[in-house]
Amino acid sequence: MARDKKDRDSWGSLVDKNVYDWSSEEEETDGRARPVQVLVVKDDHTFELDEAALSKILLAEEVRDREVVAISVAGAFRKGKSFLMDFMLRYMYSQASDKWLGDADEPLMGFSWRGGSERETTGIQIWSEVFLVDKPDGSKVAVLLMDTQGTFDSQSTLRDSATVFALSTMISSMQVYNISQNVQEDDLQHLQLFTEYGRLAMEETFLKPFQSMIFLVRDWSFPYEFPYGQEGGMKFLEKRLKISENQHEELQNVRKHIHSCFTNISCFLMPHPGLKVATNPHFDGRLKEIDQDFINNLQVLVPWLLRPKNLDVKEINGSKITCRGLLEYFKATAEANNLAAVAAAKDLYNRKMEEVSGGDRPFLAPSELQKRHLGIREEALTLFRSVKKMGGEEFSRRYLLQLEAEIDELFVQYIKHNDSKNIFHAARTPATLFVVIFV
Ligand code: GDP
Ligand code: MG
Repeated sequence: MARDKKDRDSWGSLVDKNVYDWSSEEEETDGRARPVQVLVVKDDHTFELDEAALSKILLAEEVRDREVVAISVAGAFRKGKSFLMDFMLRYMYSQASDKWLGDADEPLMGFSWRGGSERETTGIQIWSEVFLVDKPDGSKVAVLLMDTQGTFDSQSTLRDSATVFALSTMISSMQVYNISQNVQEDDLQHLQLFTEYGRLAMEETFLKPFQSMIFLVRDWSFPYEFPYGQEGGMKFLEKRLKISENQHEELQNVRKHIHSCFTNISCFLMPHPGLKVATNPHFDGRLKEIDQDFINNLQVLVPWLLRPKNLDVKEINGSKITCRGLLEYFKATAEANNLAAVAAAKDLYNRKMEEVSGGDRPFLAPSELQKRHLGIREEALTLFRSVKKMGGEEFSRRYLLQLEAEIDELFVQYIKHNDSKNIFHAARTPATLFVVIFV
């Protein structure tokens, strides 16, 4: 018993070779490790957080009071994220041994990566097994692996993906942003919403709100310009993040802002894995069919990301947090999402009411003001309802009620302001009374 406990306490343990022989089609009930969908974006663009599933993972007895390292790999579908994550699992399960990469003939398993068979779900998946790792400084940390995916194909799904991306960045200590071939303006656009969250977070603290962001560029094809790996990546990224006149202003802002949001920003350039990986439908992930250049760089990349020394515990406002704390933070982030929607709706109400009855506008008959208020109020509530929020209908209702109350309070101010412009009101002061009577 004691021995079992000890095994469990050092690195992933619980492992035999078949532990992640997993298929997404079947419901797993036998306790084997597998990816668990904890956040789903549904067809109507609403978010659903599976609190029960998340709690089960983060409140497991062995991990709940351990400080947590949360590693997320995010980006569009079919860009090799799951493929990479399965190598990360190999590394974790091999407990960082030199032979972590495995045999040349061993198929790759874990997160489902063979394209085509599975329905693509925008959202966040978490590996059900949280790894316990001893760091060289003697501390023991819990390591959580997350797969964050989105469909970046239309305006509406783009916004969903950007929100999911922002959430996963907020809850992770390291975000690996997996992108194909190059860092495009589109890729930076996804960071934009995220830097808005960053700004909100920074109103609360002087510290940089987030830890590490790693741009991982797949199928890099200009190694003669910037060599594969981390150093070439850094030089390349520096160039891509440089602000220039002809960039869109919003993206200039992202460029300015990103450095103030993250403690570390880096970039790694990966070569193409070869045609078998990219095009052969029967390819099952075995090393001998992957280009050597890719394998060589994988052997640098994965330990660089996951080496015990490099695992940074998730911090919020400068304090390290545990798995239990991360669960609370996840839920609170859902709340922040609702608060942001309240703020946007109030903002719209204020803007439109200013146009109707702001400082320089003439006095309106009270019934007219009331009519305009009702119309604009409805617009604001519609905006709140249409913004994608997490936590479900019931949870959002509280915020809807709050929004209604705040709008009604604002309306009282607009009534007072409007009344003060009423010439007949003003006429009650003796001096103007004199003027009104004798003109
Ligand atoms: P995900 O949707 O981002 O998780 O992508 P997958 O890991 O499921 O991979 C999608 C397809 O891309 C699979 O057929 C993989 O064999 C292939 N693939 C994996 N890594 C790479 C890569 O670095 N470059 C290219 N071109 N294809 C890859
Ligand atoms: Mg995938």
